[in-house]
Amino acid sequence: MSRPRKCRKVCCLPAVTSFGPTGRFCAAAGPVFMTIEEYECLRLIDLEKLTQEECAAKMNVARTTVQATYNSARIKLADCLVNTRELKIEGGDYYVCDGSETCCAAKGRCPRGTASDDMNF
Ligand SMILES: [Zn+2]
Repeated sequence: MSRPRKCRKVCCLPAVTSFGPTGRFCAAAGPVFMTIEEYECLRLIDLEKLTQEECAAKMNVARTTVQATYNSARIKLADCLVNTRELKIEGGDYYVCDGSETCCAAKGRCPRGTASDDMNF
């Protein structure tokens, strides 16, 4: 029996889904893969200054889920910076919100464009 998947609501998709160190670097470790919902947690908490509770409400999940997602996003970012690894943002378990008037995307505060092929807005 498989665990039911928790689908996170995401307002903003990354405009760029691949980042990497410039100049001389060691690429031996390969890229770090960040999910779209990890990206959204970083955006909401670190950039929009939302609390984990507010972030959870916005993404339609439990606060514990946000906490775990946010923690893993931070670890991945640190891994990229410290170990000069490439970052790729893709995949995950999410849906893009409908862009209602309370949505930050509707207020023009975030990009919603990406080369991703699973966009559904
Ligand atoms: Zn939204």
